[in-house]
Amino acid sequence: ALVLGIESSCDETAVALVDSDRRIVAQRIASQDAEHAPFGGVVPEIAARAHAERLAPMIDGVLTDANIALTDCDAIAATAGPGLIGGVMVGLVSAKALAMATDIPLIAVNHLEGHALSPRLADESIDFPYALLLVSGGHCQILRVDGVGQYRRLATTIDDALGEAFDKTAKILKLGFPGGPAVERKAMEGNPRAVPLPRPMVGSGEPHFSFAGLKSAVLRAHESGRYEVADIAASFQQAAVDCVTDRLRIALRSMIGVDTLVVAGGVAANATVRGALEKLAADHGMRFAAPPPALCTDNAAMIAWAGIERLGQSDPLDISARPRWPLDPDAEPVRGAGV
Ligand code: ATP
Ligand code: MG
Ligand code: FE
Repeated sequence: ALVLGIESSCDETAVALVDSDRRIVAQRIASQDAEHAPFGGVVPEIAARAHAERLAPMIDGVLTDANIALTDCDAIAATAGPGLIGGVMVGLVSAKALAMATDIPLIAVNHLEGHALSPRLADESIDFPYALLLVSGGHCQILRVDGVGQYRRLATTIDDALGEAFDKTAKILKLGFPGGPAVERKAMEGNPRAVPLPRPMVGSGEPHFSFAGLKSAVLRAHESGRYEVADIAASFQQAAVDCVTDRLRIALRSMIGVDTLVVAGGVAANATVRGALEKLAADHGMRFAAPPPALCTDNAAMIAWAGIERLGQSDPLDISARPRWPLDPDAEPVRGAGV
């Protein structure tokens, strides 16, 4: 089976064709980094407009690259949320139009499910259940994944997402946009123990996250003028990693019968994060899996793959784009935190 995937929830416009043998038959991805860099962050209006301009030619391009007709596809999978609503609508409306014109089933994909299932696209031996650390620009969660559509959230952030903390740190240190890769590069030149920074929530019996205090401490360290930028970047990254491993240790205590730890989302591209998780998994006698970095940051292959995982289902052509769409709708809100 073959699925066309469309992703437009943030600032990458992406289209991919993925088959049930996990082959990425073709894919194109257009980043909008250059458009948003002058503003130091993603501007929703600019993003929606850029998606609208680029998407149709990219869909044609991917079909041409693969030498495939749209009618050869078994489903059209598009991100239907969560994300910046203007961009999500561009992708979803395009998918609806193609589905309507061809009678091919539409699959409205939760972008977070795309991230959550991406390790299975990269590695056929990843079976349910698994423990998932989902670390992206908008989310920082620990979930137990028991199957497609079966997600139990054990932890979330009470303030910033981990990717957001990387982005804000990059902004404070004037390392440029996008922030995560810039902090990672700068950190390679620094000493991770040079700057004393807090590890918010570490030691708490609940596995939730908090990064706002760490970001403020980065700002104070920078303003003190006492530290090298590279040392601050390295110390921030180390503090973030220490938070993540501590929180996972707590969460894993309540995950009975789970022997695989996977990480997904943009921050999973970070080598220090991956290394620490690999060690944590080994300490727990667990298998560790992380998709290749290009499948961690936003892409359409993971959306097409989620479509493959949901093949046989379809969504009505009047389905709405959703700015918010939790993977685990039953999760309790945590002290005013987002879901
Ligand atoms: P969400 O998936 O929650 O809707 P998003 O789609 O905007 O948010 P992703 O594209 O999944 O987020 O991830 C982007 C985030 O990952 C950004 O915050 C970025 O800084 C971070 N990131 C990307 N590469 C790295 C890296 N090498 N090190 C640390 N963070 C990184
Ligand atoms: Mg991006
Ligand atoms: Fe994402």
